[in-house]
This record gives sequence, structure tokens and C-alpha cells, in this order.
Amino acid sequence: MLKIQNYLDGALSDAIDNQIIDNFNPSKGVVYGSIPNSNEKDVEKAVKSAEEAFPEWGVLNNEKRFKIMNRIAELIDANRDELAKAESMDQGKPLWLAKNEMIRAAQNMRFFATAAMQYASDSHIMPGHAINYTQRHPLGVVACISPWNLPLYLFTWKIAPALATGNCVIAKPSEITPATAFLFSKLCIEAGLPKGVLNILHGTGPSVGGVLVAHPRVKAISFTGGTNTGRHIASVAAPMFKKLSLELGGKNPNIIFDDADLDKAIATTVNSSFMNQGEICLCGSRIYVHRKVYDQIKQRFVEEVSKLKIGDPLNDQTKVGAIVSKPHFDKILGYIDLAKQEGATILTGGHAVTVNGLESGWYIAPTILEGLGKNSVCNLEEIFGPVVTLTPFDSEEEVLELANSTEYGLAATLWTQNLQRAHRMASKIESGIVWINCWLLRDLRTPFGGMKNSGVGREGGFNAMNFFTEQQNVCVKL
Ligand code: NDP
Repeated sequence: MLKIQNYLDGALSDAIDNQIIDNFNPSKGVVYGSIPNSNEKDVEKAVKSAEEAFPEWGVLNNEKRFKIMNRIAELIDANRDELAKAESMDQGKPLWLAKNEMIRAAQNMRFFATAAMQYASDSHIMPGHAINYTQRHPLGVVACISPWNLPLYLFTWKIAPALATGNCVIAKPSEITPATAFLFSKLCIEAGLPKGVLNILHGTGPSVGGVLVAHPRVKAISFTGGTNTGRHIASVAAPMFKKLSLELGGKNPNIIFDDADLDKAIATTVNSSFMNQGEICLCGSRIYVHRKVYDQIKQRFVEEVSKLKIGDPLNDQTKVGAIVSKPHFDKILGYIDLAKQEGATILTGGHAVTVNGLESGWYIAPTILEGLGKNSVCNLEEIFGPVVTLTPFDSEEEVLELANSTEYGLAATLWTQNLQRAHRMASKIESGIVWINCWLLRDLRTPFGGMKNSGVGREGGFNAMNFFTEQQNVCVKL
């Protein structure tokens, strides 16, 4: 059994009250370890530890910070196989995908360590009168709360800019996927990260995340997760005037015009629909296809999706692994039932799958729904699983209205070879990210985040560094 521990004040430890929570392997549907069920006592200790570390870390020169963070990145690379296996077992994702995500986790650390060396401040000269210069101070103790779908990838994406700008961090990974954050703690110790600079607390959302959000000495909350949780966090943190970065849910449109390169559009749509079992906030879950090519695309897409191999995440051939938890598995199947009640035709999938040798695991066949109106629940709500809807459209105006018809605005994909149309549509789609003839192509310098109920603020590049610093203008009279 894997025993996960907190990383608190530079060392690994159990929760102060010695409480634990079961940790499940979704591919087998069994408990395979335990995690500390931390509470406000652990949070208090972590805040104190982070406060003690801050005076030194906050003013450490960039190169020293860079060296430590870069060493952590090297250790992620060196331990990639072990980390990927742990991620796959904990989350249910195929091992090959977990291996790719570990590359990105290392990149996150390296990217922000390097960015800190390039992070310049502005000056504004009033000729003959004064010089203004901007200082960017670290905030102090900040909290990073991350979800279960891309565990170490999103965990590092948050903590790296916070650490690089001189903050001390208390991080809370999802209780559903704690394994790689635990292994990461060991790498931080090996890399010589000074104690207290990063504390990783495991436990439930309310008992750790909720306490951090409400803690008066935690200056900022960087949160990635569901829209409802984000709304709750904002209601607590906003009256305390904390800085808040919210990366929330999505219900992303994937629009295929009749002039698109259909081979590429179909191949990428298979991935953008079902990669990581559809448990990526950026997955395109509403597919709109121009009526002229609808039948052709439908036939080819259904054919490709029906061929996807569902099974043991550790098997190299597996394309679709296990659903992360039993409650989430039930929730997705509930949406599929609802879709049937709403009158959907199931073109493929639509049911749970039993995998030989892993009979108690939580598997769902990739599911394509057809015939749902724009106001159906399955077209409006985020399902966050291997379920997409397919809908024909006739005109640009119509598809634009469909695309913008949910409360979300995270990412959109457009498939067309018409340059004017691509730009015209991109500027009218209400989403923080628009991919044209591609999906999930990421440059870490670009602003990342959502409009509408998909979030507040932007991560990525200097956006994240700005979030984790407080600007101060100093005006010197000449
Ligand atoms: P949740 O909102 O349930 O949880 C996210 C994190 O918040 C977890 O660590 C969770 O802990 C914690 N949490 C739960 N309740 C509270 C609380 N009251 N106060 C503070 N923290 C709390 O989301 P999921 O983990 O289910 O993640 C899926 C969601 O994340 C989807 O909606 C998805 O779209 C979104 N997401 C958004 C991304 C983006 O960049 N916009 C990227 C990836 C995912 P615990 O798990 O222990 O309960």
C-alpha cells in the first residue's frame, strides 16, 4: 500500500491528527494507498513555515532560485518513468500520455525559472520632472489549488511562477490524485529547496483548500477546478481582497467547415474529444459540422472512435483508460442516461465497459451523441468525460450563435482553410483560446484562461508572474 505524506516545513510527515483518506486505483477500482486527511492545524503549521521561509526566499537572487528550480526540473526528467507510472495508476490515464505530461511538468518548472531571469520592470520618465519605476514584490504566502485531471502538469504550472517570483507556496493537490505531488515533494528535498518555501498538504477540498482560501495570512489563491468550486472560493476570498486566479470549466465548441482539411480535422477531433478520457478542460465536447460534409464526417468519425482501444492504462496500445473515480464514473453515465431522455441518438459508445482482468475498474466507451438541441443539458453542462455531441450547421452566423450559447468560454477549435473566415470567427467566439486547424498546441508564453464562467484572469508567461507579484510605483522627483 502506498502511504502518501504531507511535505511540511521541509520534511515528509503524517497529518497532525493522524487521519487518513483512502486512495483508489481507478483502473482496478480498488484502494491502493492512503493520503493524510489534513485539517486547519496542518494549514496553520504550513502558513507559519512558509512565513518563516519568505524573508530569505523572497529576496534570493534570481540565479539561485533558477538553479534550484532547474534542478527540480532535471529530477522530474530523470524520474519520468516512475512519475508517469504513478500518475497513470492514480488517475487512470494511459501510461504513454502520462509520460508526455511529465515532460511538460519539467518544462513548467524550467520555463518559469528562466522567465524569472528575464522579468524586467518598467520605468516611466516625465522629462525634466521625474522618473517612475515599477517594483514587483512577491506577495508572501500564497495558495495553489489544483485538480485531478492533469495532476502534476497543472500542479507545476501553478507553483512554478509563484516560486519563481519569490513567493512561498502552500499547494493542495486533489485528494483524488495525490501520488505525483507526493513524489514531487521528495524531488524538492533532493534538489535542496529550502524548508517552508513549498508546503504540499493533502486532504479534502473543504478541510485544506477551504481553510487556505479563508486564511487571513494567505495573500493569493490560484485555483484550477470546477466552476461551482471557483464560485464558492471567490465568495470567500473576494471580500478579503485576496488576489484570485480562477481557471474553471469548459464546454468547448469544435467547428468544422466544409472547406477544412477533413483528414486532419477528423484525426485531431478524435484526440480533442477523447484524450485523457475527455477529462481535459480544453477538450472539444460540442462538435459542429457544416451540413455539406456532415454525413461524411459523421461516418468517418464514428468509425475511428469505435476503433479506439479502451483498457488497462499501463498497456501501450490503450487509447482510452479508466475514469478517475467512482462518483465521476456515475456522473458521466448519468449524463448519458439524461441524453437518452433528451432524445439523443447514440452513434457509438453510451455504456460502461468491462475490461478483462480489471473487472472492477471504471471504464466508459467513447460516446458520440447526435440530435440534441442547443438548450439540452448535455449541450450546456460540462460532462468532463468521454462524451461529445455532434450537430450540423448551415451558416457561419448559425454556428457562431451555437458556439457562444453556453455559460462557458474556455477554448474553441475552428477547422477551415478560408483565412478571412478563420480570423472573423476567432474574434467573435467568446473563448479565451481559439485554435485554428489544430488543438492543444501550446506556447507557454501565451495568455491562458477562460471568458465568462470559465474563469477570471490569465495564466501563462508573464501573466502568471504578474499575478504572483504586487506592483508598486516609485516616483522620484528630479
Ligand atoms: P474541483 O473544483 O472539484 O476541485 C479542484 C480542486 O479544488 C481540488 O484540489 C479540490 O480538492 C479543491 N476543492 C474542492 N472544494 C474546495 C473548496 N471548498 N475550497 C477550496 N478548494 C476546494 O474540480 P475537479 O478536481 O473535479 O476538476 C475538474 C474541473 O476542473 C473541471 O470543471 C475542469 O473543467 C476544471 N479544469 C479547468 C482547467 C482550466 O485551466 N480552466 C484545467 C483543468 C481542469 P479535492 O479534489 O480534494 O476535493
